[in-house]
Amino acid sequence: MTGKVSTTLNGIPAAPGLAHGRTIIVTQEKLEIPHYEIEDAEGEMERLMAACEQGKEELYAFKEEVSGRSKSDEAQIFEAHRMILEDVALLDRAKEAIQGGVNAEKAWTDSIEYFAQMMEQIPDETLSSRAVDIRDVGRRVLGHLLGVSVGGTVLTHPSIILGDELTPSDTVSLDKDLVLGFATAQGGPTSHTAILAKAFGLPAVVGLGAEILSVPNGTLVLVDGTLGTVVVSPDESALASFIEKEKAAEKEQAEARNAAQAPAVTADGERVEVVANIGGVADAPLGIKNGAEGVGLFRTEFLYLDRNTLPSEEEQIEAYQAVFHIYQGLPIVVRTLDIGGDKAIPYLDLPKELNPFLGWRGVRMLDGAEEIFLQQFRALLQAGVGADLRIMVPMVSNLAEIRAVKAVMEKAKGQLKAEGRPCAEQVQFGIMVEVPSAALLADRLAKEVDFFSIGTNDLTQYTTAVDRTNSKVAHLANPLNPAVLALIKRTIDCAHAEGKWVGLCGELAGEPLASPILLGLGLDEYSMSPARIPLIKRVMKSLSKADCQPLADQVLGLNDPDEVMKASEAFLKKQGIEL
Ligand code: PEP
Ligand code: MG
Repeated sequence: MTGKVSTTLNGIPAAPGLAHGRTIIVTQEKLEIPHYEIEDAEGEMERLMAACEQGKEELYAFKEEVSGRSKSDEAQIFEAHRMILEDVALLDRAKEAIQGGVNAEKAWTDSIEYFAQMMEQIPDETLSSRAVDIRDVGRRVLGHLLGVSVGGTVLTHPSIILGDELTPSDTVSLDKDLVLGFATAQGGPTSHTAILAKAFGLPAVVGLGAEILSVPNGTLVLVDGTLGTVVVSPDESALASFIEKEKAAEKEQAEARNAAQAPAVTADGERVEVVANIGGVADAPLGIKNGAEGVGLFRTEFLYLDRNTLPSEEEQIEAYQAVFHIYQGLPIVVRTLDIGGDKAIPYLDLPKELNPFLGWRGVRMLDGAEEIFLQQFRALLQAGVGADLRIMVPMVSNLAEIRAVKAVMEKAKGQLKAEGRPCAEQVQFGIMVEVPSAALLADRLAKEVDFFSIGTNDLTQYTTAVDRTNSKVAHLANPLNPAVLALIKRTIDCAHAEGKWVGLCGELAGEPLASPILLGLGLDEYSMSPARIPLIKRVMKSLSKADCQPLADQVLGLNDPDEVMKASEAFLKKQGIEL
């Protein structure tokens, strides 16, 4: 390809949107694998385990970066990669070779290749394409063993990224501010390039064939991620009309954001609150930009991660005040530290547990780590003066936990007053309802709190007995399961009977198929990742609560999530809402 004649390549639409710009090819440098005999098998094994640990730490950091921006699905890619590194069979195979006198690099690469090839032979395309993940993880660890960086291309100007098939590591290590879009030779609509491109709101076309790799660096291309086309070296008129199309799309997006600035009111005049899930100061402004009417879930874990000691009270106050300032005058629900489960904090040296999701996590840490809670309450109460602060605690499963945590909050208030420090007075206290026992006891728990916020991510995990990090059983966990919906209904009804309000801050709140059901059930507040707010507000404005109530009743009687989704889709279609 000369780069002068205009050519249109057809691929698979992987992430919607339009982008034009100059290309850069991201290729993977081949790593030489040394092969020699070793004598110290134990030392060699230690070297491999240390490289695996380094790989895990990197993947954890990638996961955190992505989860700050998007749905948990995307972050789960890196969690899945981390799980590959814990695969016993993979490590055992490498270990066996090492014990037979093979060096770690060779033993590891052979084991990775063995399992990647096994995966490739599975007829199911989604599963066989996961061989890419195994090799990506393998390369990461190999890089650590060899002491070389496997980090990808460094961008110096805005570019369209071309590649054979981009691995999650390639994609995540690129400077997103300089990426305009992706076009790859291989890959399908469920490939990681697709998922990650969507997470970052960038267009992507995959499966374009080898021809895309012969496009020289610096060539002008037009990427249409909605149609799945890439125009290479467009002529002037094609470029001009593409730019027009881009402008129109940008205008449409800006209008959606503008429309989202108005409060969410349903077609029959019901006011619903649409608020943001945030992780810290960095992503807080995005909520406001997209029309959030407050914060429904501020995950405070970020403050405790990526460091070696607990944050001081002053550090916490500063970080909370920065967020409260952005949401001045709006309600802000802050969740106290939710660690344990899949969220580890290395410096706390938490004990290893066989079933961490059923273990010492969330509010349960009060029993043994009360000081951490006390300090966080002190910081929140000081930072919250003048803010519409609401504090909630995660993982509550019984009444005693509520009473115990409220006592710690009162202790913090007492201390602050005695010390003559500022202390917010009008702070609502709530709990997350994310454990089935809390939903079933909701009538009693409602008497003790000002509000509930339903955490459907965990509520679904615990109701369906599906570990939320295990991709093998992920298909069994769907929050639109009538069993989960029954618990949501019970939670809402019990809170309302006590005159308390109810929010929902799991991923389900940002799912348009759930909107008419949740509205029909009477949910008051919908908290979601900022990117989902314009869409959900648009859906809410077209819905009438009175019409949604019979739908909610109907789906509660259905057999499974598929039936619920179909019923909701048909209902939305009838209301003229196409998703
Ligand atoms: C939930 O469980 O639904 C929730 C919002 O909390 P997290 O995803 O942080 O556990
Ligand atoms: Mg949770």
